[in-house]
Amino acid sequence: MSIAENIEKVKANLPENVRLVAVSKTKPAELLLEAYDCGQRSFGENKVQEMVWKFDELPKDIEWHFIGHLQTNKIKYIAPFVHLIHGVDSFKLLKSIDAEAKKVGRIIPCLLQFHIAEEETKFGLSMQEATEMLNSAEFKVLGNVKISGVMGMATYTDDENQIRKEFANLKKNFEKLKSEFFTANFDFKEISMGMSGDYLIAIAEGSTMVRIGSTIFGERNYSLKP
Ligand SMILES: *Cc1c(COP(=O)(O)O)cnc(C)c1O
Repeated sequence: MSIAENIEKVKANLPENVRLVAVSKTKPAELLLEAYDCGQRSFGENKVQEMVWKFDELPKDIEWHFIGHLQTNKIKYIAPFVHLIHGVDSFKLLKSIDAEAKKVGRIIPCLLQFHIAEEETKFGLSMQEATEMLNSAEFKVLGNVKISGVMGMATYTDDENQIRKEFANLKKNFEKLKSEFFTANFDFKEISMGMSGDYLIAIAEGSTMVRIGSTIFGERNYSLKP
C-alpha cells in the first residue's frame, strides 16, 4: 500500500468534523512530501529538533503539530511556526510557551493534556490541576497562548472497553471545562484523541482530531520510549 492509499483509507473512516494529523516522527522528508502531494497539510512531530529541520526543508503551508513532551528550554525553537501544541501538561510549561510566543509576537494555540490512561508513564494533568490553573490570576494574564481544547492518550491495551472508558473520561473533562471556563469561547473546541490502534473508538467517543502515524507511514523502526 502507498502512503496515498493509506491516507485515503483512513480518511474514509473520518467524519467531516474530525481532522487528521499525520504523525511523521522518525520518517524522512520524502515520505512527508508524498503525503503532502495528496493534500495532507497537518503533520505531527514529537521531537523539537526533528520538527525544526522538517519545517526548514518542507513547504511552508504545512501546519506543524507538536505532540510530544515539550521541554521548556526548547520552546523557543518551535515558537515562530508551530501550529498547535498538543501536550501542555503543566502550568509551568504553559507560562513558558506564553513567554516565548510573546517574544515572537504570536498567540500559540495549545491543548491541555490529561492523564487518562492507567500507565503511570503517560504525561498529563489531573482535573484538579487544570481547574486550579484556569482559576488562577496568573493564568488570566497570559496573553500569548490560546487554550483550544484537550488531548489524551489511552492505555496501550487490547481491552476496548478500557480504551472507550478512558476516551469517554477525556470527553467528560472537555465538557466540564467548556461549561466552567469556556462557554463563550469558541476556540475551545478540540478533543485530540485516537492513534492508529484506537482511533475508531476515539471517534465514537467524540474525538475532533486524530493523530495517526504507523497506519499511514508504516511501522517505526525503533521502540517508543515512555
Ligand atoms: C507516535 C504518536 C502517535 C501516533 O501513533 P501511531 O500508533 O503510530 O498512530 C500519536 N500520538 C502521540 C502523542 C504519539 O507520540
